Amino acid sequence: MRILVTGGAGYIGSVCTELLCDRGHEVTVYDSLARGHRSAVDPRAGFIHGQPFEPGHIAAAFQRVQPEAVLHFAGDILVGESMQHPGRYFRNNVACSLEFLEAARACGVRKFIFSSTAATYGLPEQVPITEETPQRPVNPYGEAKLMFERILLWYHRIHGLEFVAFRYFNAAGATEQHGEDHRPETHLIPNVLKVALGQQPHVEIYGTDYPTPDGTCIRDYIHVVDLVEAHLLALQPGICGFYNLGNGDGYSVREVIATCERVTGRRIPALARPRRPGDPPRLVASAQKAMRELGWKPRFPKLEDIVATAWAWHQKHPEGYPD
Ligand code: UDP
Repeated sequence: MRILVTGGAGYIGSVCTELLCDRGHEVTVYDSLARGHRSAVDPRAGFIHGQPFEPGHIAAAFQRVQPEAVLHFAGDILVGESMQHPGRYFRNNVACSLEFLEAARACGVRKFIFSSTAATYGLPEQVPITEETPQRPVNPYGEAKLMFERILLWYHRIHGLEFVAFRYFNAAGATEQHGEDHRPETHLIPNVLKVALGQQPHVEIYGTDYPTPDGTCIRDYIHVVDLVEAHLLALQPGICGFYNLGNGDGYSVREVIATCERVTGRRIPALARPRRPGDPPRLVASAQKAMRELGWKPRFPKLEDIVATAWAWHQKHPEGYPD
């Protein structure tokens, strides 16, 4: 298929571009490089340096590429930042996403796949979280993603545009070529591995007084390749709707650190710090719907295996991407 990948210079988008190229799809990446890395874009893919706020730029890119499907990864991803700069999140994750969607509709795109998030659920009353769990976001990041989910539903009802919105839990891990390089890095596993690499003296644990067995937050970590695999399955015609993507296993921050110590064979000192605003205590997915309807099955469900691939990538690229 001819596929446009927005945010294809970012973490998940770069892995997705790699896997799409492996399967012989014709891929063009649209990325502003505000957060992504040019060298993370698979050389087999075309590249458009996005200027999403320049009027007509997105529409012109779509006219040029004439994609059959769009995978929309571009967007801001930090809960904490969204609590400080909500406008940025509504502008980039809602207004800009709408530009992409409008351009897709105008070009007759058949499928629009969107990166949504577990943050749309807010503070769920029970885990595991299913797609029917009420969505009550507690930060502008989750709110903006939910707003765009609603927009997709209306475009489907009114224009018949087929969409899939994947609610990601915690993506981690790497392929040989593509891994996680956010600047600044705020995510747990890369931060822990920086300590293992000797680049940081210790990792900070944000909150040790949560109502969980060891007092630290519990998350559901999913291998980025498994996550991307669900997107490839969702390209099939007839697949439309909302799907959680996680493994269904929860690991606390302390358990993640202990796993990283085992995988790397290095000691990782940790310091307790206050809670980070906006962090729910426990997020664990039920991804039964994706398994049932997409035939999706995670290949790397074990945290050890996820961390091992991330560790291999960070050892090979200790400074991250060159540009
Ligand atoms: N976390 C932490 N130290 C760090 C980074 C993250 O204790 O250096 C915690 C964070 O508070 C959360 C969990 O680890 O409870 C996962 O955070 P991450 O930012 O990786 O993903 P999120 O769940 O926010 O999407």
